[in-house]
Amino acid sequence: NELANLMDVQVNQVIATCMSLGLFVSINQRLDAETITLVAEEYGYKVEFISVEAIEAIEEEEDKPEDLKPRPPIITVMGHVDHGKTSLLDHIRNTNVIAGEAGGITQHIGAYNVKLDNGREITFLDTPGHEAFTAMRARGAQVTDIAIIIVAADDNVMPQTVEAINHASAAGVPIVFAINKIDKPNANPDRVKEELAKMNYLVEEWGGKYQSQDISAKTGLNVDLLLEKVLLEADLLELKANPNKPAVGSVIESSLDRGRGYVATLLVQSGTLKTGDLILSGQYYGHVKAMFNERNQTINEAGPSQPVLVLGLNGAPQAGEKFHVMKNEREAKELATKRSQLQREQGLRTQKHITLDEIGRRIAIGNFQELNLVVKGDVDGSIEALADSLIKLSTEEIQVNVIHKAVGQISESDIMLAAASNAIVIGFQVRPSLAARRLAEKEEIDIRLYSIIYDAIEEIKSAMEGMLSPEI
Ligand code: GDP
Repeated sequence: NELANLMDVQVNQVIATCMSLGLFVSINQRLDAETITLVAEEYGYKVEFISVEAIEAIEEEEDKPEDLKPRPPIITVMGHVDHGKTSLLDHIRNTNVIAGEAGGITQHIGAYNVKLDNGREITFLDTPGHEAFTAMRARGAQVTDIAIIIVAADDNVMPQTVEAINHASAAGVPIVFAINKIDKPNANPDRVKEELAKMNYLVEEWGGKYQSQDISAKTGLNVDLLLEKVLLEADLLELKANPNKPAVGSVIESSLDRGRGYVATLLVQSGTLKTGDLILSGQYYGHVKAMFNERNQTINEAGPSQPVLVLGLNGAPQAGEKFHVMKNEREAKELATKRSQLQREQGLRTQKHITLDEIGRRIAIGNFQELNLVVKGDVDGSIEALADSLIKLSTEEIQVNVIHKAVGQISESDIMLAAASNAIVIGFQVRPSLAARRLAEKEEIDIRLYSIIYDAIEEIKSAMEGMLSPEI
């Protein structure tokens, strides 16, 4: 059917041609490369195969250890709604003005960098929340080094707190807790720490491994101490990058600006971006006409962990898309064109995700060691029981991880998490929301719904043994 559409002929003609080649095919059958070439020739077309890998991946040279220099950590703030994410980001933005520089951070460009009194720098992603974090990750960008999980001390650990923690953990990003709103008379930080402990997140002052700081984002109390702890955590990660090479990084946000054309905020992850550089990002490219920092000052260079607003691209690449500095304009243009062709033909199908049917085969050929699951259900008890039983299905060959489990219907954020972590979503006595179902179709995420725990376990077990008969 796809081939017929591409050639603008009737699909039954293509089927007939296949038959004349001795192939009996159905309308949705995938044809191999040779058949496609033969059939296309019959209709006067020449087939050119483009390798997706060649278009996606631009070779990055490995850095020599001596070229690596320390770089500032990149932080995302996550937590339940109204627990103070925006207030914390605002407070840090407003108080940390680089010494000797006029004016604070005046414009929102999606990320900002602050210099602390001790001379060290931290970069904050300015779109708080685990949804943005995981959406970026689903598109392939792992930008965040450390997550600050904020919990209001006059409230409890809430469903979205748990979600945020699980999203950060699934990404392997270390967590620092900020227990907020301690200026409030009814604040009870110990209760929050107790609830975290129950989830196996024991804070340092109680003998655990998680740093935590009581703060007030509103008054600014102890925010400096929080940032110190973030830096301590960053020291453990020994974050480094090579500043002396062409820049590579990720798109934080992008848009069309009336006066200035396409503007994109880029976060440099290694190398140094310079005015005049030729950038390729997704299907767009262009020379950097001008660069601005978050203080709206013109800059000519941006090194690792620095966010910059860039003018000069010929389109708006998606948030989470990688960018590369290219040497050759013809090559950049060619890659951009091929990528947009691919996008037109395939839609936004970027990455193939795992399905239950595939697991057995993938284990058999030995390239699948971890099965990630997101488990949603109607009551806590059954989710715990189901998750425990699923984890126990782990064998020597394959580790079963439940990266997130919660009560409630399957949401968009569950699907995003599954997309970012190549997971399968399991619903026990719950269904996906309409939006989640649509997103799952687009991202090709396998959702499995069960109403009996035993069925869920048996089906995953047979899938792992390669015994699952494919769904018709
Ligand atoms: P977000 O939804 O997580 O971004 O939360 P916001 O930063 O918008 O904060 C939600 C509400 O809590 C706002 O009315 C803030 O003024 C208030 N708030 C945030 N932090 C504090 C705090 O430390 N103390 C007090 N008293 N209120 C706070």
